Amino acid sequence: MSEIKTIGVLTSGGDAPGMNAAVRAVVRRGLALGMKVYGIYKGYQGLIDGVEGEDIRELRAKDVSDTIQKGGTFLYTARCMAMMKPAGVKKAAETCHKYGIQGLVVIGGDGSYRGAEKLANEGINVVGVPGTIDLDIACSDYTIGFDTAVNTAMEAIDKVRDTSTSHERCSIIEVMGRHAGYIALWCGIANGAEDILLPEKYDYDEQKLIDNIIDNKRRGKRHHIIINAEGVGHSASMARRIEAATGIETRATILGYMQRGGVPTATDRVYASTMGCLAVDCLAAGKTKRVIAYKYGDFVDFDINEALKMEKEISEYQVLIARSLSHNYYKNEAEGRETED
Ligand code: ATP
Repeated sequence: MSEIKTIGVLTSGGDAPGMNAAVRAVVRRGLALGMKVYGIYKGYQGLIDGVEGEDIRELRAKDVSDTIQKGGTFLYTARCMAMMKPAGVKKAAETCHKYGIQGLVVIGGDGSYRGAEKLANEGINVVGVPGTIDLDIACSDYTIGFDTAVNTAMEAIDKVRDTSTSHERCSIIEVMGRHAGYIALWCGIANGAEDILLPEKYDYDEQKLIDNIIDNKRRGKRHHIIINAEGVGHSASMARRIEAATGIETRATILGYMQRGGVPTATDRVYASTMGCLAVDCLAAGKTKRVIAYKYGDFVDFDINEALKMEKEISEYQVLIARSLSHNYYKNEAEGRETED
């Protein structure tokens, strides 16, 4: 039997489809190991407020029934400024002590891990689980919610493409990812976009985009899809400038929050369930200050500080193939000349 008898689980930062599957796994794995499990509502805010029956509720197996297939997080989430201050961390640790919570599973992104690390310094065993649609956690090749979000965006872009082709338009479609262009990159490849604007790569050379659109039109293309990560410029004004420069009707579509919601894919349900279980197993094994990750095809755990120091770089090869497969850049690379259609 584990030394850890009581654990808590919370979701923090932006919500992501699959978070419920992770919470469910934490609850049921914890119960299976003989632990008492508390659900902490509204992220770190709930831990700081600590009101019994409201912010902190004991969860039993049936409390997580009928949650695995639902988007969002039934524990709710928050961006909690109070946690950024030492007094907030102290208060959160006091709540843990009050309820006898010895171990805490924090499902969220890098920011949530930083809060968890501070709680660990107050004597709470913590394990982070990567929950973010942005795929921007350096230590992990997978984050909960990315698969669902990218599929949601892909399906929406397919629909915009249909109408864009019918009207022979240029479409700028803005996807989420203020600092990380993974959704844009994946959609760029999956939707066969002509151009992809990534925060990590965009050189703000709008003239190049304009030249590409004109060139495509000349070659008989009936649409031009540009996928824009939200961190890059302003899609609506970009559309106006492109239309003025090319004479081609150009529309901006901002997919927005729809990308966060919806039924989680099988991948998100299964990976989130695995990660939730592994987090509890880590706590049961006496580990703390760990984060769960999926790396090189395996589920593993890293030291939280080590994980926070890692830097993620967007795959150069994926960027290259996205360009290489788009009609626009379809060139005979060996000879450096354009290939005829
Ligand atoms: P996402 O990727 O969806 O944005 P995230 O976990 O990175 O998720 P943040 O808003 O950065 O989202 O962080 C979530 C919460 O974690 C914050 O609202 C705050 O309560 C806590 N947090 C973030 N940074 C720190 C920090 N340096 N110290 C203590 N707590 C922090």
